[in-house]
Amino acid sequence: MVKALITGGAGFIGSHLAEALLERNDEVAVVDDLSTGSLDNIAHLTANPRFQFAITGITNELVMDRLINQCDVIFHLAAAVGVELIVRDPVRVIESNIKGCETVLRIAARYRKKVLLASTSEVYGKSERVPFREDSDSVLGPTSISRWSYACSKAMDEFLALAYYKQFDLPVVLMRFFNTVGPRQTGRYGMVVPRFVRRALAGEPLEVYGDGQQSRCFTDVSDVTRAVIALAETPAAIGEAFNIGSTQEVSIEQLARLTVAMCQSSSEIRYIPYDEAYEPGFEDLRRRVPDTSKIRRTIAWQPEHDLAAILERVITYYRSLAASG
Ligand code: UDP
Repeated sequence: MVKALITGGAGFIGSHLAEALLERNDEVAVVDDLSTGSLDNIAHLTANPRFQFAITGITNELVMDRLINQCDVIFHLAAAVGVELIVRDPVRVIESNIKGCETVLRIAARYRKKVLLASTSEVYGKSERVPFREDSDSVLGPTSISRWSYACSKAMDEFLALAYYKQFDLPVVLMRFFNTVGPRQTGRYGMVVPRFVRRALAGEPLEVYGDGQQSRCFTDVSDVTRAVIALAETPAAIGEAFNIGSTQEVSIEQLARLTVAMCQSSSEIRYIPYDEAYEPGFEDLRRRVPDTSKIRRTIAWQPEHDLAAILERVITYYRSLAASG
């Protein structure tokens, strides 16, 4: 039995990870400031005696000192995410991502606890050399375009984690998530799948940004949490970065059509220019595809859910939310 601390454990991925760890009989402590996470995400876990949670920010030194001292492993998932949020509130994104990670690593080093850091495929930026390999170059845009502050803040977190590993021998693992989706993800901060599904179920128009030919590889959250837990248990993963994502590429236009069809919806598809959707000068990524050979080699992982199965799960989730009012 492991004692896990999940920062951002009331968020979308964090709450699924908490659930998966509890199912294995691990102990789980969650720390979350509920800025983008929600108590609803963990309400079904609170009766479990192996579960505890603290509602506070991860820069709260006293609480973090106690929680990190008491745990065996830290899953650092707390971060400001979502392209729309980044464009709307870049100060919060930059400050919370950098300060938060710095606090977690510094206290983890004090007690020598392993840290699994949630990072993002966004760190590869707008490089057109797909698929992205863990040692590929980052290609970021200018600092005048807020979007890149997220990639930069996460790249800084990765640098810092690796610096702690190299200088102080702190065990760290970097996990680069590629468009993780599933039940409980909200569309409030920009994520495309929950937005499309909600609109298709409501018979409202789906808004495709740009020409819709940009592509992504959507990965089911349960496949992601399986990878995260396996990486935590694998000594060979220490000091390394891993892409965690599906390799099934789909354009956003295809995604919109498939969502409408699977929801048996009559919603129309509208095309909205990027400038209108985000901010003037917004730069999108044309293709985002992981090379997954490293994670396959290290933990023999591959996703079990294809895009249709993922959409089915999200549609079922939003249908049941609508039914419960
Ligand atoms: N997108 C869209 N309509 C929406 C939300 C997003 O067309 O309502 C597009 C977005 O511009 C991007 C893709 O869908 O090209 C994926 O967006 P998301 O924010 O989910 O993830 P990203 O890959 O941008 O981090």
